[in-house]
Formats: sequence, C-alpha cells, structure tokens
Amino acid sequence: MTIAKTILLFNLALIGTITSLKAQVVVANWPNGKKAALSITFDDNCPGQFTHARPALDARGYKGTFFVITGGSQCGLRDWDTLRSVARAGHEIGSHSVTHPQLQTLDTARIGAELRDSHAEIQRQIPNLPTKLTIAWPSGRGGGSTRKEDTIRMIAGPYYLAGRSASSGQGWDSYTAYLNPFFKNYYLQVGTYLQGPSVTGAAFGQTIRACLNAGGLMSLLYHGIETGGFNNIPITLFEEHLDTLANHPDLWITTFGQMLRYHNQARQTTVTNVTSSNTYYGFTLADTLNATDYDETLTIKLDVASTGIVQTGNYDLDIDGQRTGYRYIGTSDTIIFNAKRGQRINLSTVVGLANRWSPNWTLSPMPAQGTLILRDNGGQSIPSGTYTLQDQLGRIVTEQQVQQSTNSVNLDVTDLPSGLYTLRIKSASGFYSNKVIVQK
Ligand SMILES: [Zn+2]
Repeated sequence: MTIAKTILLFNLALIGTITSLKAQVVVANWPNGKKAALSITFDDNCPGQFTHARPALDARGYKGTFFVITGGSQCGLRDWDTLRSVARAGHEIGSHSVTHPQLQTLDTARIGAELRDSHAEIQRQIPNLPTKLTIAWPSGRGGGSTRKEDTIRMIAGPYYLAGRSASSGQGWDSYTAYLNPFFKNYYLQVGTYLQGPSVTGAAFGQTIRACLNAGGLMSLLYHGIETGGFNNIPITLFEEHLDTLANHPDLWITTFGQMLRYHNQARQTTVTNVTSSNTYYGFTLADTLNATDYDETLTIKLDVASTGIVQTGNYDLDIDGQRTGYRYIGTSDTIIFNAKRGQRINLSTVVGLANRWSPNWTLSPMPAQGTLILRDNGGQSIPSGTYTLQDQLGRIVTEQQVQQSTNSVNLDVTDLPSGLYTLRIKSASGFYSNKVIVQK
C-alpha cells in the first residue's frame, strides 16, 4: 500500500490534458462546475452506520457508499431489509467480500469465490443495481502493488468497476494519478482517507482543502459510528465532518461508484462527427466504454474561439433537437452545458448575424396590438418553424410552432406589454429575425 502511494506521488504531472479530445471541446474534470470529488464510504456493516450515519447523510442530501460483508461481520449487522432501504434512498451498496479474509493468502479459486459470491448475493438481495458493483478490499489487500494483488484485481474485473483500498496516504488522489501506466487498472486501486478518533478536525479540514486545491478526488473511510466497531467515532464527530464538507460547495459529494464512473467516462470521451462553419459548430460525444456500466451525464466546455465561429451574436444550443436556450456569445467565450454520449450537439446562429430577412416579407400592423401578421408579398410560403418573440434582454416572452404552406401567418401578441421585441424564426431554411413594436 505504502509503496503504491509513494510511486503515485512521483507521477502526478504525467499527462496534463485529455489528448484524445479535440481542442475546442473539453469534458470538465468534474460535473457542474465542481472542483474536486469526494465519496463517503463505510466498511464492515457496523450497525451505527445505519442507525446514526445514514440519517445524518439523508438530512444533508448526501449519498454514501456502504461496503457490505455479505457473510456477516464482527459488527453483526447483515439485515437485507435495512440495506434495501439504504439503496432505495440512493446510497450505494458495494461489496466487502463474503468473509473478510486476507485475500492475498488465498488461492485463486477461493479469491474468485469471495469476489463472485459477494457480488451475486448483493445482486440477489437488492433490486436494480448496476451490473458491475464497487468493492472495498478487506484490510486493503487487493488495492496494493504486489503481484498477487494484480492477480486479485484481474479476478475482480468481471464483477467490479472500482475498488477502494484501506490506506491513508495523503488522504486524496490527484486527478491525473489515474493516467499513470504503472497501474494496470487504477480504478481498482483507489486511495482512501481512513477516519477514526485520532483524526483531528483541523487535519480533516486541511486534507479536504488540499484535495480541492489540487482538483483531485478522495474517499472517506468510516467503520464504527457511535455504537462500536473498528475505529469507532461518536456521531457528533461524524456530523462535524459532514458540516465541514458542506462549507465547500465546490466539492462534488457523490457515491464512490459515480465518482469513478464520471472520471473514467470523462477522460475516455472523444468528440466525433464535427461539422462547422464560421457561424455553426456541431458534434457528438462518443466513447468505447460498456454502456451498461457507464452512462454519465457529462459537463462540456466548448471554447468558441477554437470552433471556427468568428461572429459574435445570438446562438442556439440544440441537444438532440431540443433547444436548451439562446445564448449571446462573443468569439472568446466558453459555453458550458451538460450532455450525454451519442447526443447531437449544435451551436448555430439564430439571428443570421446579418439580420436575415426576406425583402418580400412585411410585418403588420406596426405597431402591433392583438395580432401580428407576417406576409410574403411575392406569394411564397412563409417558412414553417419555431417563432419566438424576445424582449430587449433576449428573454423569450412567447414561442409558437408554425406549420403551414400559405403566404401569411398570424402571431398572437395580446399578452405582451408595450415595448420593442425581436421576432426570431428558426426554420429548416435558416434563421430570420426582425424588430417588432408592440403598443397597447
Ligand atoms: Zn473491513
């Protein structure tokens, strides 16, 4: 364990960026503007985890990860009704083996039985779990760097997508530690911050801040809470920890499994099907991960300057044809949004930038009152599409779908207060806009 951690520290700066991505589109290291990630994990099924820690988590909206010894533990609890209720509340249930053996002392057949049977029992007892679970290595043996532990991780591969060690180290891992080729499957060797009565509140807060400053990830490891078990701590101290976390809104607190699924999918994602012009940029996201195991919503940062878009103006962000909103962008802006694998993402100009408008079209009456009429004086059809009126701040105040093949369309402006608006039309033939005055 110590050896693995030491080598980790020497390789922090191995790869600074996700080189497989096109430069202009980056999957954020963590979702929704969060700077670092943290999971709250529990080993050994100690009863206080369920009677004391879980209510404290629920009261704050945090989801924990409970690693269960499926054959029962020294602490005594193996109550599947309780564990089902924990899972229903959104907490993660992972494996801590069947009997908590020293895995490195067992032959491969018995190692296989411990890993396979605990996975199967959890799947049998708790409905709707992901196919692959997470595991906490008993006494940390499986997360280390020995050859036997490499073998343990190979055996674990079909059942588990992430594994947590039991060592403290510096208490957190750097983001790029996972790109270190020294680790054949780093996601099965994730570090942890062991909690117990000897960890002071000051040290706890300092470690959280260090992880945040580095943009890394960490998992807290608890055993006994209030009612006994290894490294038992009073519930008041546990709640102090949670309150310290709450003081850091830029920390993403999630389950152990989701923290690592996001990490893995974010760095495996590539940008494909790119089409672009000086006013348009479209693409999809792809990865080669198993879609059953990995289906995260990713936070995307799109650097406008590097897309080829050269004109400032109003743009429409569509994801799978769903408009997420107009945005005014400058050519040096970064657009941030959430998307998933396979979705088609289009950033396209709404205004037409030259304020496109057919010379044959008139808007009347102007000023408009109850009804605004758009007419093509050349007798051509008005385009079908989405018609919106936006106020001077760019806010959409009314929107309607127009499907028709005649040369005029009536738009209801009865509810609009007097003022200046912009009519924007998004149609298959392009984007159009013009000014509209409403007077009551
Ligand atoms: Zn344990």
